[in-house]
Amino acid sequence: QQPQIILLKEGTDTSQGKAQLLSNINAVTAVGDVVRTTLGPRGMDKLIHDDKGSVTISNDGATIMKLLDIVHPAAKILVDIAKSQDSEVGDGTTTVVLLAAEFLKEAKPFVEDGVHSQNLIRSYRTASTLAIEKVKELAVSIEGKSVEEKKGLLAKCAATTLSSKLIGGEKEFFATMVVDAVMAIGDDDRLNLIGIKKVPGGNMRDSFLVDGVAFKKTFSYAGFEQQPKKFDNPKILLLNIELELKSEKENAEIRLSDPSQYQSIVDAEWNIIYDKLDKCVESGAKVVLSRLAIGDLATQYFADRDIFCAGRVAEQDLNRVAAAAGGTVQTSVLGTCEIFEEKQVGGERFNIFSGCPSGRTATIVLRGGADQFIEEAERSLHDAIMIVRRAVKNSTVVPGGGAIDMEISKYLRQHSRTIAGKSQLFINSYAKALEVIPRQLCDNAGFDATDVLNKLRQKHAMQSGEGASYGVDINTGGIADSFANFVWEPAVVKINAINAATEAACLILSVDETVKNPKSESAQGDAAAGAMGRGRGGGRGRGMRRR
Ligand code: ADP
Ligand code: MG
Repeated sequence: QQPQIILLKEGTDTSQGKAQLLSNINAVTAVGDVVRTTLGPRGMDKLIHDDKGSVTISNDGATIMKLLDIVHPAAKILVDIAKSQDSEVGDGTTTVVLLAAEFLKEAKPFVEDGVHSQNLIRSYRTASTLAIEKVKELAVSIEGKSVEEKKGLLAKCAATTLSSKLIGGEKEFFATMVVDAVMAIGDDDRLNLIGIKKVPGGNMRDSFLVDGVAFKKTFSYAGFEQQPKKFDNPKILLLNIELELKSEKENAEIRLSDPSQYQSIVDAEWNIIYDKLDKCVESGAKVVLSRLAIGDLATQYFADRDIFCAGRVAEQDLNRVAAAAGGTVQTSVLGTCEIFEEKQVGGERFNIFSGCPSGRTATIVLRGGADQFIEEAERSLHDAIMIVRRAVKNSTVVPGGGAIDMEISKYLRQHSRTIAGKSQLFINSYAKALEVIPRQLCDNAGFDATDVLNKLRQKHAMQSGEGASYGVDINTGGIADSFANFVWEPAVVKINAINAATEAACLILSVDETVKNPKSESAQGDAAAGAMGRGRGGGRGRGMRRR
């Protein structure tokens, strides 16, 4: 009798081969189906609530994927590519997930028929390279235009991004705002120079852009009411020190032999703070901001001298003021701006610095009904800001609305015919998968996708090439020239999406076995059990492995 060879620990779960690959593909397709309906201007939103009762409504692929809390190991890859798309280019997160899922869906019949996945991977990679070359070739540069013209074009890009969002109804309003904000920070790489502040209540249209910094009034002490709330051309002092009467006994130990000496210690404490305050006033500053607390003594002191002060200002806000007013926050910085004002915005008091000389910041104050609404609006604006920044940097755009996808698809189909061998089929499938974008745009808008796609195919097949920029017309359910309609996307969004989706699909195709180590699972189980105070959670049987 042959001895049994034990290679892996008892309880190890391995699944392998075709079955495993197919199960991974199914999982990925299922994830694709979740985000599918959010694509495009007519896409639906998802409401996700967790067991803690927090509710998020979103249309953003990356946000949805993050919140879904996917446990399937292969499907998790999609979460990662959505995230990376979000951080690399900021938009196209739904597109990337959808493409990856579709590539795999197209690969499935081949896998079932016993095609080796390496063959598929090789063809997919070739197709992806060809596709990206084509995108680059078709991209149109917006370089060399006047600033005004450029702004208009950028606003179109921003509007395209925003049209799929909850705030799509006001896309022109917000697009201009976003472009102004991005133009304000110039080519500075720090995205956080654009602040977004949310004030619930009011109307979307009440949102406004400050060409400088705005933040919510910080906690303040008595005496604050007497401080002036508006200045023209004030000097601004930014501090990183505490202006509070401190019991120095916390910092030092002092031994006294004579009780009368005690008074001198108290005096010293007062002198320290008065010394600091005097220096602030001497600097000529009219607005004093500090990252640390400004106590009641200081508040009153400043009030008596017609100086405005705010303590415990968030570091980001302080940095923005520094960038706007010129200078950097050290222990103290003196800057200036045209107007400083404390204003009522909805239910909140806001400190607003505008007309700053360095002018390298902007703050968007968002208004709108529910919390979830403003939060989604913020995410949407983030997408738009990223897009405009990308377009400023790379300054090439491609027609959206599925036009570019159809064009690449056509190109790949044509190319595949020149190939002999199985690879022809695979590249053809890749080309077919790209059509998912226009098809989904139609489906989500309630159009007849087959009809629209046929029209698009016919248009793109035209020899003259004049149909190359035709995409789905979201308003009529027909087709239209996306370029002429200013449905534009930065080329880099598409390039990145194709790249990432292909890589993810190839990665999943290259996995033919997953091994679950029982040890790592029981360690996880222990942690979970420990957190719930149930003690050890070991001794899991085989039946528990699949979740
Ligand atoms: P993603 O997260 O991938 O950016 P979106 O929901 O923002 O997904 O949808 C983007 C898609 O919608 C792009 O393919 C874009 O070309 C398309 N799109 C945006 N605006 C329009 C429009 N006005 N008409 C047709 N298609 C549009
Ligand atoms: Mg988008």
